[in-house]
Amino acid sequence: MKLYFASGNEHKKKEMSRLLGGYELVLPKEEGIVFDPEETGNDYITNAMIKAEALFSIVHAPVIADDSGLSVDALGGKPGVHTARYGEEEAGRKLTDKEKYMLLLKNMEGVENRKAHFVTALCLILSEDRKYIIQETMEGSIALAPEDNGTGFGYDPIFVIAENGKITATLDEGEKDKYSHRGKACRLMRILLDKENSND
Ligand code: IMP
Repeated sequence: MKLYFASGNEHKKKEMSRLLGGYELVLPKEEGIVFDPEETGNDYITNAMIKAEALFSIVHAPVIADDSGLSVDALGGKPGVHTARYGEEEAGRKLTDKEKYMLLLKNMEGVENRKAHFVTALCLILSEDRKYIIQETMEGSIALAPEDNGTGFGYDPIFVIAENGKITATLDEGEKDKYSHRGKACRLMRILLDKENSND
């Protein structure tokens, strides 16, 4: 089964493809579709729905969308839904992933409570009237210094997983999936998709 993935993020596609093994994920840009909807929602579910609906209205075929972010307790839940654009308004330009996580580390200097969690909302649209939402989390904390062996993306070099005490970007490829917000949400999504593709 082919699923359009309402994203431009190659890293997310790699993770999602691994997690939804057996389903072919296609990014809009791979079929020459210009896709950059404005994420105007105040929560992950709304933004995942905005992305999924926008792509479904173009392709009229099964679509999956992910909206995710990092919520830091000491920052009142920020950057939250604005994680992708963290620090960009102040900088007046796009920042690299490294610039963003280094800025977050700077803003956490001297802060003792380092608790944080990732959130992901997945929206699946199979047809106009068949839509599903799943939201999941990964609990952890913000590290004191980054560590990266290149297997992760985004804020992985500064996120310590509560369950194993390791920085996400130091795990072997695929190991993150056991604990991650996206891993948990995709395992549930697979149940829906597998049922859809069986003859029950
Ligand atoms: P979105 O593409 O609007 O959903 O933005 C998600 C933001 O959260 C991006 O800045 C990602 O780098 C970050 N993010 C989401 N999931 C993860 C993850 O699993 N690891 C590290 N960063 C993530």
